[in-house]
Amino acid sequence: MSFTRTVENFTCEHCGYAVAGNGYTNHCPKCLYSKHVDIHPGDRKATCGGLMKPIGVENKGGDYVLVQECVVCGFKKRNKVVKEDDFDKVLAVSSRANSQGK
Ligand SMILES: [Zn+2]
Ligand SMILES: [Zn+2]
Repeated sequence: MSFTRTVENFTCEHCGYAVAGNGYTNHCPKCLYSKHVDIHPGDRKATCGGLMKPIGVENKGGDYVLVQECVVCGFKKRNKVVKEDDFDKVLAVSSRANSQGK
């Protein structure tokens, strides 16, 4: 694993929630958006800066993985769902993705 652990607090640009960074998650636990700032997780090397929209949820052996897509450039990434995340929101993203048949 080559994760760079960066602890930072940030304000969600989608819903305005003040997110307390823990070094592992950089997405908003309330609306599940994040920002396109990483090329590799934690490196903050992407210059895009677009919002990463939650478009789907995958279930891998009991772990939920959020799929996000950058609204600016279409870059996709996967983010493990953590216990701080709003699980109702995770399920809502999941059922929305399923009802679109994707
Ligand atoms: Zn948010
Ligand atoms: Zn982007």
